[in-house]
Amino acid sequence: MAAIRAPEVARSGERSGFTAMVLVGGLGTRLRAAVPDLPKPLAPVGGEPFLTRVLDQLAAAGCTTAILCLGHRGAQIEQRFGREHRGLSLRYSVEPEPLGTAGALRLALLHCADDAVLVCNGDSYCDVDLRGFVQRARGSGMPQLVVAEVADTERFGRVELARDGRVRSLQEKGVAGAGVISAGIYWLPRSVLVALPPSVPRSIEHDVLPGLVRSGLGAHRAGERFLDIGVPADYARAEAFFAGVRIPAPRRRLLVVDRDGTLIAERHYLADPRGVELLPGVVDGLRTFQSHGYEVAVVTNQSGIGRGYFDQQTLAAVNAELSAQLGRHGIALRGIWHCPHTPDAGCRCRKPQPALLERALDELGYGKADCLVVGDKQSDIELGTRLGVRTALVRTGYGAGTERDGRCTPDLVVDDLGHLAELEVGR
Ligand SMILES: [Zn+2]
Repeated sequence: MAAIRAPEVARSGERSGFTAMVLVGGLGTRLRAAVPDLPKPLAPVGGEPFLTRVLDQLAAAGCTTAILCLGHRGAQIEQRFGREHRGLSLRYSVEPEPLGTAGALRLALLHCADDAVLVCNGDSYCDVDLRGFVQRARGSGMPQLVVAEVADTERFGRVELARDGRVRSLQEKGVAGAGVISAGIYWLPRSVLVALPPSVPRSIEHDVLPGLVRSGLGAHRAGERFLDIGVPADYARAEAFFAGVRIPAPRRRLLVVDRDGTLIAERHYLADPRGVELLPGVVDGLRTFQSHGYEVAVVTNQSGIGRGYFDQQTLAAVNAELSAQLGRHGIALRGIWHCPHTPDAGCRCRKPQPALLERALDELGYGKADCLVVGDKQSDIELGTRLGVRTALVRTGYGAGTERDGRCTPDLVVDDLGHLAELEVGR
């Protein structure tokens, strides 16, 4: 089912998350005396590889996928980190021969379809509000660079800023004294990387930045909290550096799911727990959402109660069976909110009326901006639209018909919950 894709559904500009490319292919020759057996990103700091701090920061900033650009001894990094870190999907791009920093990014495009990506290094850390940087970069419509202030720019090369905040020029390494340097964190449009020749060694400093400076490169000032573990003296102060870094907890999000036709097969006024059958894509999809920090709540119209077809106890038994089936796959529901009224009762809780969703958000402590409403009917989408919440229409249940009718405007249209998870959080 997931093979059928309507291309118009992936509006990447509306995605809440972003993709990062992390350069971890450096040779680390200068650090070899301090950490002889490991690639630099695996150099331990407080008992954990340095790269852990970088990935923690990305996860907390709302990054959904990190593509690690591997070179020298890359296999060790893949072995250590696997496929996921704190809800962040990890992918690996392995260069067959040294391609330089920009060549490695060009190669990593094979793993990414986004219009723009965050680029950073696996052996340096800048204590900057990454989420804010990405938001501003997206709004600016131009490539952006994070710059840091250091006491001595000699090892790094200096960045001169223009009055309007853009980068005016970049100088080679070797100029001593206090100044502003590149923190090695960029927001780059895909077009910049696509323009590079594939499989040819290229460097960001020499082959990408000069052109960007000419056409317009924004600078985002990050202050002084910058660490590059490239030399033993700076590696030695890493532990003290991170003692002063506070990484915010990853943002929690709520997936609000309709029941019949979205989670389980649509049966007319289901009143028998034996009729509870999870739809294709539900288990994989919800698991993926959960592993990316989402909680799941169900909001459902059950007018069968108001119509006298079944009672609250029967509904509770059906819902208990649903929870049990999901539980066997490691999926926990935060709750099931239902409206028992008939359409003509004039209640405020029958979807698309907002009361049920408002109550669920209130009881679980979520704001509207943290939530995504999913369902197969016009009433599900209208519910989200009325409250200003993002919506997704699934083609399961009555969804294909709802899509054909075209009477509502969901933000996303997907085959099923598995497809939605793929679009929304990756993997
Ligand atoms: Zn109601």
